[in-house]
Amino acid sequence: MRCAAAFALALTLVAALPALPDEASPPVRVVATFSILGDLVHNVGGDRVAVAPLVGPNGDAHVYSPSPADAKTLAAARLTVVNGLGFEGWIDRLVQVSATGAPVIVASAGVTPRRVGAATSGPVGIDPHAWQSVGNVKIYVANIREALVGVDPAGRAVYAANATSYLERLDRLDDEVRRAIASIPPARRKVITTHNAFGYFGADYGVEFIAQQGLSTEAEAAAKDVARIIRQIREEHIPAIFVENITDPRLLKSIAAETGARIGGTLYSDALTGPNGSAPTYIELMRHNVDEIVAALK
Ligand code: ZN
Repeated sequence: MRCAAAFALALTLVAALPALPDEASPPVRVVATFSILGDLVHNVGGDRVAVAPLVGPNGDAHVYSPSPADAKTLAAARLTVVNGLGFEGWIDRLVQVSATGAPVIVASAGVTPRRVGAATSGPVGIDPHAWQSVGNVKIYVANIREALVGVDPAGRAVYAANATSYLERLDRLDDEVRRAIASIPPARRKVITTHNAFGYFGADYGVEFIAQQGLSTEAEAAAKDVARIIRQIREEHIPAIFVENITDPRLLKSIAAETGARIGGTLYSDALTGPNGSAPTYIELMRHNVDEIVAALK
């Protein structure tokens, strides 16, 4: 009797779960919340995976508002990959609305979170921009590999091989970044940026980033923060100011005009560019940012 009851209960549970999309054949449909994560999934998944980022190139995931179409995209996917660390404030609600029964995995799981204290502009909190450290992205890649194997065990060997070769490329990228930053005199390794997105990069590679906005792009820079940055540029002789592809550059341009610091170019923080831009992949994004920083500070 107990056995029969348990079986009936199991049937009820199965019936209550939303149907999973077709599990038979590749490509495995995967949702990544933003373009950088989409590129990482693409590198591990290769041809077995069709990945769609919710927030596309040059998009700002901090202030994204999901559409009904996004809920459908999630419902049709076998896996959803999110950054975590509070980056996608809108994801829980979207997952709920989509009623997806597929796993939702946190790519940053296992990364040591960077806590931003009261001394920094913006609210106290955890910095979500962990992908700005290549070492962290290696953790993301391992998590993505395990998640893909979980939903598509037949692809295990493919995912393992793709991940291994991508991890080797990331090791070479990490060396490249370290060598490039080492070519800048230490006293000049200071940069002004729009929002506080480069803390992991700064901690790993030894560059100080001073941001006009906090960890998110949501809040406008306060007048006192602008005054602080202008004072800091003058006192510390900070050589360069960088704008970002996802934020409004006007305020930083006026700070540059007032202080005589030069605009060093565009850094890519939270989004790739389209295929014809200078950062269509994560590796190209890091190379571009490092080239710009070295050119402005050296
Ligand atoms: Zn950001």
